[in-house]
Amino acid sequence: MAETKLQLVERHIRAFPDFPKKGILFRDICPILKDAAALTAVIDLFEEHVRANHQQVDLIVGLDARGFLFGPLLAQRLGVGFVLVRKKGKLPGATVSVSYELEYGKAEAEIQEDAVTPGQKVLLIDDLLATGGTLYAACELMKKQQAEILGCLVVIELKELNGTDKLKPLEVFSLVRY
Ligand code: AMP
Repeated sequence: MAETKLQLVERHIRAFPDFPKKGILFRDICPILKDAAALTAVIDLFEEHVRANHQQVDLIVGLDARGFLFGPLLAQRLGVGFVLVRKKGKLPGATVSVSYELEYGKAEAEIQEDAVTPGQKVLLIDDLLATGGTLYAACELMKKQQAEILGCLVVIELKELNGTDKLKPLEVFSLVRY
């Protein structure tokens, strides 16, 4: 039987134990990027989901850094713009920021103040959902900007970390779940 798009995507994700530190099983999406058909399949699957579930999307919002790899491709497909949520100190001009907890210590996420206008319908995108802390912080930024958050898109969801609970009632669409 012919391989499905999802199987093609799954086949291009690899796991590295104990990276970046002991006890973490790092899910590496680099092989997806290296394979034109696998990358196209990721964007096809996201596009199909968005078209089936959202009548209007104004912006795709990508998370630093691997959200930047998939977000602009999806935005182009949908014919909408792309906005960056970055780690603190990377964006010029007036910014809005929010701090959030990491496993050890704190981090800050930031967007440009004029990135989103109130009422715009946004979808957030990242490579992977673990605890949900990063996407939660990005959602807080969107709320500060009075955006209407339609949901979150991730290539990979790590189910045992319950990131979807942290983001409730927001919908999270994931392609591959471990
Ligand atoms: P979290 O905020 O816990 O949901 O973590 C999500 C962010 O950390 C994403 O931007 C991922 O790129 C990265 N990340 C967390 N855990 C992993 C993992 N096991 N493999 C690859 N990336 C990860």
